[in-house]
Amino acid sequence: MSFINNSKNKVALIDCNSFYVSCERLFNPKIQNTPVVVLSNNDGCVISRSVEAKKIGIKMGEPYFKVKNLVKKNNVKIFSSNYALYGDLSRRVMKVLKGFSDKIEIYSIDEAFLDLSHIKDDQVEEYGKKIRNKVLKWIGIPTSVGISSTKTLSKVANHIAKKNKSGVVFLKDNIDNKLKDFDIADVWGVGRQLSKLYKKNGIDSAYKLKNISNTWVKKSTNVLGAKTVMELRGVSCIDLETKEIKRKSCCVSRSFGKKVESLEKLRESITTHCLNAAEKIRIDKQTTRSITVFIRTSPFDKNRKYYSNSVTIDLPVATSNSLELVKEAINGLKKIYKYGYFYQKAGIILSKLNESSEKEFNLLAPIMEKKSNTLMQAIDFTNAKYGRNSISVAQAGVKKSWKMRKEHSSNIDTASFAYLPRVFTT
Ligand SMILES: [Mg+2]
Repeated sequence: MSFINNSKNKVALIDCNSFYVSCERLFNPKIQNTPVVVLSNNDGCVISRSVEAKKIGIKMGEPYFKVKNLVKKNNVKIFSSNYALYGDLSRRVMKVLKGFSDKIEIYSIDEAFLDLSHIKDDQVEEYGKKIRNKVLKWIGIPTSVGISSTKTLSKVANHIAKKNKSGVVFLKDNIDNKLKDFDIADVWGVGRQLSKLYKKNGIDSAYKLKNISNTWVKKSTNVLGAKTVMELRGVSCIDLETKEIKRKSCCVSRSFGKKVESLEKLRESITTHCLNAAEKIRIDKQTTRSITVFIRTSPFDKNRKYYSNSVTIDLPVATSNSLELVKEAINGLKKIYKYGYFYQKAGIILSKLNESSEKEFNLLAPIMEKKSNTLMQAIDFTNAKYGRNSISVAQAGVKKSWKMRKEHSSNIDTASFAYLPRVFTT
């Protein structure tokens, strides 16, 4: 069966290669060609691997303790995750990408779809190379670029590009040959359950899925399943979501590196989370009308009693002021804290987020508000210039002994000159 594809659509998927590892390498040129691995929160599992680490046999998602021997034997460089660094570099990568097309969908921290329909077929591969080179030159992050007529096919192209030396693939001709070699489990939108179902029915490649009957797909899967099939045929059904959807809520929570018993330490962590969340919503020019504080002990600790509680406070006036939010959060914490428990996790959620400009008019507030906005701007500016948490509030503590386990953190802060790599010339 063959499907005629008249579409002039061209979508590129740009994906950063081993993104977290690449971020760490940027500040540590010595580990450029050596095996490197980044671990998840509290140094739990492997979440990013360099090509060299993959070759040794370190699997994605594997618990760190299971690969410790491999790590030692092969001298693998280990990093605790540093999301502040990855988030910052991600923003910079996306900014460069926006220069190549105004239709962009930021799909995840290290992936974006770009509409390249305005570029001619015979020039689009060259254009892809330009994108790749600019991101590499300006930000220092290597990427792979896959281009095709639909999002699903651009994902396929990207997979192929990852193994391609140039890092760029335009998938237009001989698509079927490529799809025959493409594992069904690697098709975008085909999760573990769906790929099991397909395999049971003999559909083990993207090519076989492309040629499946419409009736069968509709009967056996859902709308998304049918869309995937159409997209493999080159019929675009999944639009680019170019509108940046502002978040409706903002949650900051962490598990503790060591269990925490005292109210004082919980207060430090809640304050710190609150400051982070407030800064986040200020960056997005949002305000909140509701703050939830939650704490809990470990549900797996059979020797100790379990306790989990939360409290939500509705604020009379929408705000993004750190000091106000911290005050409310601490009041909330005091209401739910119980002595005698060993807490494992604490966090806050800011909800009912609004645009700052949409905020309702408050007769008494204007003057005070102007003052506090200026103060918040000054804090954000100082922290961006001199390093995170240069200015904080006293309740956030200084030692922060409750912090996440981060034994292998590079601690790189892009807001601080001290972390710039040094280059010696002779
Ligand atoms: Mg990636």
